[in-house]
Amino acid sequence: LVARMRGFGETIFAEMSALAVRTGSVNLGQGFPDEPGPAGVLDAAVDAIRAGANQYPPGPGTPELREAVAAQRAERYGLSYDPATEVYVTVGATEGIAASVLALAGPGDEVIVFEPYYDSYAAVIALAGAVRRPVTLRPVEGRFTFDPDELRAAVGPRTRAILVNSPHNPAGTVFTRDELEAVAGVCREHDLVAITDEVYEYLTFDDAEHIPLATLDGMRERTVSVSSAGKSFSVTGWKTGWVTAPAPYVRAVQTVKQFLTYAVSAPYQLAAAYALRNEIPWVEELRKSLQAKRDRLVTGLEAAGFTAYRPQGTYFVQADIRPLGFTDGMELARALPEKAGVVAIPTQVFYDHAEAGAHFVRFAFCKRDEVIDEAVERLARLR
Ligand code: PMP
Ligand code: GLN
Repeated sequence: LVARMRGFGETIFAEMSALAVRTGSVNLGQGFPDEPGPAGVLDAAVDAIRAGANQYPPGPGTPELREAVAAQRAERYGLSYDPATEVYVTVGATEGIAASVLALAGPGDEVIVFEPYYDSYAAVIALAGAVRRPVTLRPVEGRFTFDPDELRAAVGPRTRAILVNSPHNPAGTVFTRDELEAVAGVCREHDLVAITDEVYEYLTFDDAEHIPLATLDGMRERTVSVSSAGKSFSVTGWKTGWVTAPAPYVRAVQTVKQFLTYAVSAPYQLAAAYALRNEIPWVEELRKSLQAKRDRLVTGLEAAGFTAYRPQGTYFVQADIRPLGFTDGMELARALPEKAGVVAIPTQVFYDHAEAGAHFVRFAFCKRDEVIDEAVERLARLR
């Protein structure tokens, strides 16, 4: 294995899901729903296969999906993108982010990330030969946020891009307009590109609102926005995502992406287009149901003795393990199946500053109520 990828090992999601299967534990680790997506969307994929959408689709994506994505960005956020030149379909958001980073950052360049960061960010920055500069999200009055001075201090002469994930996994923060303004200010001042990960764009709770960074002044022209169908429509296994950006950035992404995977599974693109056009009301119901599940899990974790951070979005809760007498989340996550029959994700693997994250574990609540209840009952035995 090449030096720059040493230390990445197996992803924590694979490790923890395998552990859940091996031990028969309730899996609140890897974030995937245990209920199906909208029936119409599932039918659309089957219909597309039967109708013969089984050969290579166009590299940039099927026109149906590119047009549906452009329409969604326009209707929901007032952002206008040309489906022919400013939308590109990728193998999930993961490939969209990877191709963007590989296209925009080279050896020795720096990319700013907010830690805890989604694990693929660190790996793909390393693949690019670039260096990550983490800015830490810390709890302030029950919500994870960053210090704008720390963000400004992270910028150097080699900084090329900032990766911004909102709604944020695993912190659960939905960045406010003020927070996004701080990011935008840094991007404008230092001529940086923003790469946004908006996979949880629909999954926001209470009065939190997802604001795409590209909608801020001067940002559309320097933002590569990434999203996907997996979370919105409960089809995480479909790995169908997209990038929207000004044409020169899309061309840069294309140059990389076409040699990673060339194209994306045709039937899922057609089904994702159908989903964006027809199933937003379904997503609104999902959102409401997830908000109730969030509260169910937070209440249960608190009763079990954790300090739980109620997220504004996503389907994850960060929980502080110290009130239960534990200090190392990795140690606890590895012992949890035996101690309680539950699997969680040790968030410390998403931090460079281990001390900022050592005492957190992440629980997913995109699960049936009885699964959440069973997990919470088991966790109550930890005391
Ligand atoms: N970004 C974040 C923040 C995620 O939680 C996930 C997990 N699905 C992804 C990206 C990957 O999305 P996809 O499955 O569309 O590649
Ligand atoms: N996004 C999911 C999570 O955070 C898992 C994705 C994966 O398995 N790579 O749990």
